[in-house]
Order: sequence, then C-alpha cells, then structure tokens
Amino acid sequence: MKLILLGAPGAGKGTQAEILSRRLGIPTISTGNILRAAMKNGTPVGLQAKAYVESGRLVPDDVIIGIVCERLAEPDCANGYILDGMPRTIPQAEALEANGIEIDRALSIEIADAVIVERMSGRRTCKDCGATYHVVSNPPKAEGRCDLCGGELTIRKDDAPETVKARLDVYHAETEPLKDFYAARGKLVSVDNQPTIELTTAAIEKALDIQ
Ligand code: AMP
Repeated sequence: MKLILLGAPGAGKGTQAEILSRRLGIPTISTGNILRAAMKNGTPVGLQAKAYVESGRLVPDDVIIGIVCERLAEPDCANGYILDGMPRTIPQAEALEANGIEIDRALSIEIADAVIVERMSGRRTCKDCGATYHVVSNPPKAEGRCDLCGGELTIRKDDAPETVKARLDVYHAETEPLKDFYAARGKLVSVDNQPTIELTTAAIEKALDIQ
C-alpha cells in the first residue's frame, strides 16, 4: 500500500499515520518530522527550512522533493509507505509522478477549521522522536513525557494560534487543490474527522477496505 495522507494541519494525519503504519507494517514518511529533526540537528536542510517552518509557510518544493525521493529509495519502503505531509503542492505531486513514484490512494481527512484551531491548542510533540499527543484526547501516560521514548513533550512553535491561522490559509490555497488532482486520477478517498481517534481510524479502515 502506497498511501498519501491529505488534510489540514491538525486534522490528525500524523496520529492516523502512526496507527496505520503499525497496522500495515509499512513506514510513515513525515516531511514535518524529517524537517524538525534536521532543524534540531542544525543540518543544511534544517537551517534552510527553519524560517519557513516556524512562520507556517511551506518549505520550497525542491528541498522537499529531494528529501522524499531519497527517503523512498531506502529498502524499508519497498513494500509500501505512508506519506504524511507530502505532497503539499501540485508541483510536489507532479514531481512524485515525474520520478516514477506511483501511489495507490490519497486519503483526505476532512475537518472544519474551527475544530482545528481548538485542537491545536492542546497538541504536544515529543522533542526527541516527534510523536504527537493531545492533552485531552490522547494524553501521554506520564505527564509531559513521551510514551515511546521518554522524551520531553513540548508545544511546537508553529502550533501558536497566529501560525495555525497562517498554516490553514496555506492549506486551503496550496494543498487543498490536490484533492482534485487525485480525484481526477481516481485515487481520492475522503473520510470525515470523527469525535475520537479510534472512530476516525475505523472510518479510514472502512474507506481503504482494510478492516
Ligand atoms: P507538518 O508537521 O506536516 O504540519 O509540517 C510542519 C511544517 O513543515 C509545515 O508548516 C511546513 O513549513 C513544513 N513542511 C512539511 N511538509 C512540507 C511539504 N511537503 N512542503 C513544504 N513544506 C512542508
């Protein structure tokens, strides 16, 4: 299964990608996590990306395309993968096709902007491994600590309310047109966000026919 997850920032792509990844035994490639790790380690890509990520703008397409093509060539991607947060623009989607990267499905998680703004205020992210939590709907077992690696949980700079608004504007202008792009190729599947993570997972499994 080669799957793309589409949806606004805060729609739950990262959380659902982690669940589907375990369920299907395929890796998740999250461009957001790759960029945050690069920023933390001060690599050239990280330095290039920092100002964009922290202000809620998109990192230039050529940087992203390079990162993703390199990652998808690794052996663990041979049997499939989940792309979380890429493509985010039509040129990125075209670049995947131009590099011979064929996907099976593009799954869009639909959610209202107002729900996102509320949700992002409770989001916490592990500083070390990038796993995400929510203070109400998906709390860690020990407050402030990652269940997976014990790392410290922090509020991402780009989860600040003004930046969330900017990221939603970017999503509607640049990323949402990808729904038509994949619908035209017969690959789009949409599910509505549900009141709980489990119900959203169930809706996704039904839509992808992997129950
Ligand atoms: P995310 O964790 O997916 O919400 O990504 C966080 C930030 O990383 C975004 O707001 C962008 O600044 C940057 N980013 C992640 N993926 C992409 C992408 N495919 N294209 C451009 N920028 C990206």
